Amino acid sequence: MALFELTEEQQAVIETVRDFVEREVIPVADDLEHRDEFPEKIVQGMKDLGLFGLTVPEEYGGGGMDLMTYALTGVELSRGWMSLSGILNTHFMAVYLLKKHGSDEQKQRWLHRMATGELRAALSMSEPGAGSDVQAIECRATRDGDHYVVNGTKMWVTNGLRAGLVVLLCKTDPSADPPYKGMSILMVEKEPEARSFEGITVPPNIEKMGYHGVETTELVFEDHRVPAENLLGEEGRGFHDIMDAIEVGRVNVSARAVGLATRAFEEAVRYAQQRKAFGKPIAQHQMIQEKLAEMGTKLEAARLMLLQAAKKKSAGERSDLEAGMAKYFCTEVCHEIVTEALRVHGGYGYSTEYTIERLYRDAPFLLIGEGTSEIQKIVIARQLLERYRVQ
Ligand SMILES: Cc1cc2nc3c(=O)[nH]c(=O)nc-3n(C[C@H](O)[C@H](O)[C@H](O)COP(=O)(O)OP(=O)(O)OC[C@H]3O[C@@H](n4cnc5c(N)ncnc54)[C@H](O)[C@@H]3O)c2cc1C
Repeated sequence: MALFELTEEQQAVIETVRDFVEREVIPVADDLEHRDEFPEKIVQGMKDLGLFGLTVPEEYGGGGMDLMTYALTGVELSRGWMSLSGILNTHFMAVYLLKKHGSDEQKQRWLHRMATGELRAALSMSEPGAGSDVQAIECRATRDGDHYVVNGTKMWVTNGLRAGLVVLLCKTDPSADPPYKGMSILMVEKEPEARSFEGITVPPNIEKMGYHGVETTELVFEDHRVPAENLLGEEGRGFHDIMDAIEVGRVNVSARAVGLATRAFEEAVRYAQQRKAFGKPIAQHQMIQEKLAEMGTKLEAARLMLLQAAKKKSAGERSDLEAGMAKYFCTEVCHEIVTEALRVHGGYGYSTEYTIERLYRDAPFLLIGEGTSEIQKIVIARQLLERYRVQ
């Protein structure tokens, strides 16, 4: 019996996405990545498939699916191209937060358009001086009548240019002690693709090693006015709520890692059977077999950890431990598998003609996004020490 049974509906979604990736993504991803081009046509296809609305409740026009389906969708998309999952992730986290903390009016206003992908969301916590240490953010929202006035600079905003809605973590009470008690979430509406909009500037996209299919930007706020009704949840609860949503993000990053590693493994297994050295396919040399065995085993373990974390978070529970362990393990394993797959390709792995070169550049980001491996280990150890506390 399978440890994780999927419903027919879940299976149908995943097969549809797999088919889409085979037809529409794999044949063009390398080329688009090398040209640093945003995949407009693929994103339109994702909209047509209803992927932006996958977890939006049906009453708002979405698919009403759970986090497990979302995670497995992330695996399939990342097997094709990791950037596609990045295009969806911040959007899903915004949907998650809106479903959980949004007022009826806020849900009505945004979820319908988010379900179709007409409105896309970014999520912005990090700043030039604060990444891992989220409580060190300085972006300030000052109440002024029925508005907040936002000032500050945000860094590393995935989908920062094309998003029409930004989940913004900011300080509404800078004197709060500890600082997290003075942090809130504002839903900032902006003009998608505009470099300048009512006190929000989007500087030129940050140039990156990989992950070229999705833009990453700074966002500069100068006296940008946000209606007070755009506060999400309660003032002073922003840090708590965003950390909850980050667990969804960590499940997504784990899924991306499994998808990327699956592709690297497939590429290595294929190449090993085609490439000959010393009179036989390299797959028949024991040291290559050892690599494949280790890669395949670690990949399977990572897949199981992903499913475990997705299942727990899907059930609506806080899952710091499971999401942290999955994020840490899946991304480290992905990095190892991609590196080993590159070695299996020999010199050709270093050429842009082979997909493994793209995967090799994408993988390191997974060790950093949604909290670095070091931060995951802190989260994991804290939870374990709590669980096994000596009285
Ligand atoms: C391509 C890309 C896209 C991103 N997208 C987004 C996004 O959409 N929204 C968003 O808000 N952020 C985003 N980020 C930011 C990302 O979340 C941060 O980069 C990450 O959290 C690390 O923060 P930092 O870069 O400031 O590193 P730092 O926090 O400065 O860390 C530097 C090093 O110190 C280590 N370190 C820090 N604290 C400790 C500690 N207590 N103990 C041990 N080691 C420690 C870290 O693990 C790391 O190795 C993105 C980043 C990238 C690269």
